[in-house]
Parts: sequence; C-alpha cells; structure tokens
Amino acid sequence: MNRPEISLEFFPPKSLEASFRLWDTVQTLAPLGPRFVSVTYGAGGTTRELTRDAVATIHKHSGLRTAAHLTCVDATREETLTIARDFAKAGVTDIVALRGDPPKGSNGFVPTEGGFQNSCELIEALKDEGNFTIRVGAYPDKHPEAASATADVEYLKRKFDAGADEALTQFFFEAETFFRFRDACEKAGIDKPIVPGILPIENWKGARRFAEACGTKIPAWVIDAFEAAERDGRQDLLATTICTELCSDLLDGGVEQLHFYTLNRPELTRDVCYALGVTPQTGLENVA
Ligand code: FAD
Repeated sequence: MNRPEISLEFFPPKSLEASFRLWDTVQTLAPLGPRFVSVTYGAGGTTRELTRDAVATIHKHSGLRTAAHLTCVDATREETLTIARDFAKAGVTDIVALRGDPPKGSNGFVPTEGGFQNSCELIEALKDEGNFTIRVGAYPDKHPEAASATADVEYLKRKFDAGADEALTQFFFEAETFFRFRDACEKAGIDKPIVPGILPIENWKGARRFAEACGTKIPAWVIDAFEAAERDGRQDLLATTICTELCSDLLDGGVEQLHFYTLNRPELTRDVCYALGVTPQTGLENVA
C-alpha cells in the first residue's frame, strides 16, 4: 500500500467555541502535510462571511494551501465573482466550485436573478478569470437529482470541459462504488483526477441522515455493524477500522489521493491517516 497524499475539509465556525475547535483541528492535522485544506460554504449561501474569514485566517496563520468553496446560491454573477476575486487578492486561488444546496426547507435549487444558472456557468466564469485552480463535486452513488448514473457522469464531463481541474467525490461506503464510478468516468473520456471523499464517522446517526439526504447508499453490513458497536460503546473503534479498510482498498486499487471530511473533529481523521502511514512530517534537523 502506497502512502497517499491527503486533503482536508473543514466547515466555518459559528461560535467562539467552534472557532477554537476548528483551530485545534487545523493544528492537529497540519503536521500530516495535506496538499490543501478547504472550507465549505453553508447551504443557501448562509455562511458567506464566516467562510471568507475562516479561509483567510487558515491561509494566513497555518501556511497551508487553502481552498474556498463557492456556490451559485443566492448571489448574482457579479457578487459571486467579487467574492472569488477577493479570495485571489488575499492569495487564495483554489476554489471548490459548486452549484450548491438551497437553504433548508426550500424545494430544490432555484437560480438567483442575474446569478449563475448551474455549476458549469460558475466554472466557466472562474476559468475566464485565469488564475484559479478549480475543483468540483462528483457523485459515485449518483447525485439524487441526476436522471441516471450515466447522465451524472456526462454532467461531470461537462464540468471538466468547462474548466475544472479536479473532482472531489461525495462520501461512499465501499471501494467498489468508487472503482465503478472511476471506470465510467474514464469510459466517458474524463482524464482529470477524481479524488475519493472520505467521511470518518464520528456520529453514526448524523452520518446516516446525511447519507440518506445526499443519496449515498448504505450497505446493510454497515448498518448492522454500527448498531452493534453503538450497543457496546465501541463506535470510534469501528469507525476507525471501517474507514481505514475503505482507504486501504482504495489505495490497493491505484488511488493516490484522499480527501477527508473532518467535520472539524481531528481525532478519527488523524488515526486513520496514521494507520495509512501518513504521519507528522518531521524535518531532518529535528531528527538529528
Ligand atoms: P452539479 O454537479 O452542478 O449538479 C448535481 C447533479 O445534478 C449533476 O451531476 C447532474 O447529474 C444534475 N444536474 C445539475 N444541473 C444539471 C443540468 N443543468 N443539466 C443536467 N443535469 C444537471 N454544498 C454547499 O452548499 N456548500 C459546500 O461548501 C459544499 N461542498 C461540497 C463539497 C463536495 C466535495 C461535494 C461533493 C459536495 C458539496 N456540497 C456543498 C454539496 C453540493 O452543493 C450539492 O451536492 C449540490 O446539490 C450539487 O452541487 P454540484 O456543484 O455538485 O452540482
């Protein structure tokens, strides 16, 4: 098994306590040498300022390559591009470009008047700006709004044709799901990197709800295993094992990069990374 390169996803904090937790997560995981870290943009565009501040702070104080998520929700084209240009001015030229989820309780995505109609339009506009590395979302279990798995892959191809450099996937439970998707993408003529998104499961009930909402299929054996582990109070052990095995299978199948959804909780991601041989990078001067 080769040592993978990792990237890490955080969400912006909404309270002082959450800010400390985010910073603790950054400090715990930064020594693992991620190729980049990213900060999400709340559903419905609800965390615009918080995302901007979190990205700027992490970029400035951690020295890590930092990516900002950006969506098409609730903003005009000009407003969205102004945010992107402000990121660039602050030295942040990595964007995760998404159509985005609408605010909770609303019925599906409705483009804002004067706003981007879909993710491809956003990607094209960012590409025209000329200075961004653009990453996009991909869905090994199929996005719930896609007409079929084939249509979903074709849409991902459109996003690459529009200028995306790399895709980060939604989380999934079995390596086979990713390999099937990777094969379908290759068949559709996609030759850019597709990086598996990995969710270390800190909270089984929350992860199950999230999987159901975003169309991630949960195998029966995972449900049985977590229910037994919950009963016996050993969820963390199970979560670490399941996640490590998934990553190990992916690496055995030729995957070289993994994107971790940390949920601002560093422990499980750290433990899985250690098990995969991704350990703190120590300079030779510290060893001598
Ligand atoms: P798209 O790829 O544009 O659309 C999703 C699917 O719908 C497509 O694959 C396609 O099958 C179908 N589709 C959409 N438009 C069309 C069309 N015009 N014609 C045909 N088919 C179409 N959400 C947030 O709000 N904030 C975040 O920070 C955030 N970060 C994310 C990070 C990652 C790595 C991932 C995978 C998802 C993230 N999401 C985030 C969730 C994402 O916003 C939702 O999944 C959203 O519903 C789709 O966004 P997208 O850009 O992937 O959509």
